[in-house]
Amino acid sequence: MNCPYCGKQESRVIDSRSLDGGVRRRRRCLACNTRFTTHERVQPHDIFVIKKDGRREEFSRDKLLLGIRKACEKRPLPTGAIDKFVDAVEAELYKAGKSEVSSAHIGDLVMEGLKKLDHIAYIRFASVYREFADIGDLKQEVDSLAVRRDLTPVNQLALPSSLAVDTLLGRKRR
Ligand SMILES: [Zn+2]
Repeated sequence: MNCPYCGKQESRVIDSRSLDGGVRRRRRCLACNTRFTTHERVQPHDIFVIKKDGRREEFSRDKLLLGIRKACEKRPLPTGAIDKFVDAVEAELYKAGKSEVSSAHIGDLVMEGLKKLDHIAYIRFASVYREFADIGDLKQEVDSLAVRRDLTPVNQLALPSSLAVDTLLGRKRR
């Protein structure tokens, strides 16, 4: 278990708590003293992810979390929202009971969830994951989000405008 702040391995457990299906441990890094939390959970069975190029690799919650965190970087999400979201995706995968899933399927699950969680994070994730064939596809996706504007709670963030998309893609406005 590496410290998420300094990467060192040694940590001390300060507190453990049982949760449904797992244990939550509060740890303190012995190198940099930062506190962080780990979740241990029972895994019903191993899941292998089949990648686009046909390679298989064991499903990793950490990897999934990392990708989602990246998409949600600096987004105003409530504390714990990302973990909860990853839990939901993971639960969905185990519930399906298959030992192999395609990376595309996981990507779809994530995109579906992000669409509800945060539109900017969704666009960021989708642009990496779905590898939009061209800017037109991406714009279409953004427009379809805009159409559903009335479904978005008022206190949620602003919808990504085409300007925001350009910024995300590092393009200059014409
Ligand atoms: Zn540390």
